Amino acid sequence: MCIFCKIIAGEIPSGKVYEDETVYAFRDINPQAPTHILVVPKTHIGSVAEINADNSAVVAHIFEVIAQIAREEGLGNGYRVVSNCGADARQSVQHLHFHILGGRELTEQMA
Ligand code: AMP
Repeated sequence: MCIFCKIIAGEIPSGKVYEDETVYAFRDINPQAPTHILVVPKTHIGSVAEINADNSAVVAHIFEVIAQIAREEGLGNGYRVVSNCGADARQSVQHLHFHILGGRELTEQMA
């Protein structure tokens, strides 16, 4: 089982922010901004590269959840949503996840 599957299963502790039947969100262990939350599908999808017609409903739902979490976290001034995909993007956990980054003005640099 991958590390995020273990977090979802409760085998590894996490700072849970949100959970429903298909989505789990928790605080990044190494935050890059005052608010840094990871939003993941409970089903194991390796990365953005594995999104397809059969599993994209959960991805649409993740974006509804992201908007809700951002409101609850007081990110009305803006935030960034990032998903690193593959080696060139330095994806380090091979379970699809979306970073929510906010709580301060972020840098201009995206890459
Ligand atoms: P990425 O590099 O885009 O694959 O992002 C993986 C993220 O997972 C990194 O920002 C890590 O800090 C975070 N991370 C790794 N292990 C844990 C953990 N046990 N709990 C919370 N966040 C984690």
